[in-house]
Amino acid sequence: MEKKCNKYESYFIFASKDDFEKHISECKDCSHEKLKQDKLSFLIKDSSETYRLLSSKQKIKKTLLKIACSLLLLVFAGTFAGIEIFNNYNYDYFINSSGISVISEQGLPTDDFGFFDYN
Ligand SMILES: [Zn+2]
Repeated sequence: MEKKCNKYESYFIFASKDDFEKHISECKDCSHEKLKQDKLSFLIKDSSETYRLLSSKQKIKKTLLKIACSLLLLVFAGTFAGIEIFNNYNYDYFINSSGISVISEQGLPTDDFGFFDYN
């Protein structure tokens, strides 16, 4: 039985390109090993490209999700802030502690509610 050549790695790492290619052309085992390495290299390059495309799509999705969440948060915050202001809004600050309209204290005409009377 013929012994399998085990010089592929040594040639790949240490030999010059010409010596490596010369050995590959002469040695059937190393030629077969190079073919396997080339296939593996192609698969890695191919899958890395696929992963890169998936990764960029995921980044776009994540960015869109962040934007959507931010807008939703703004809408909720604005809605609840508006409800809170509406519920707490009163006209007490138009009236001073003695019950007299602040507007009438300024000498301006007021209606029955203490608001500025346009007429
Ligand atoms: Zn060989």
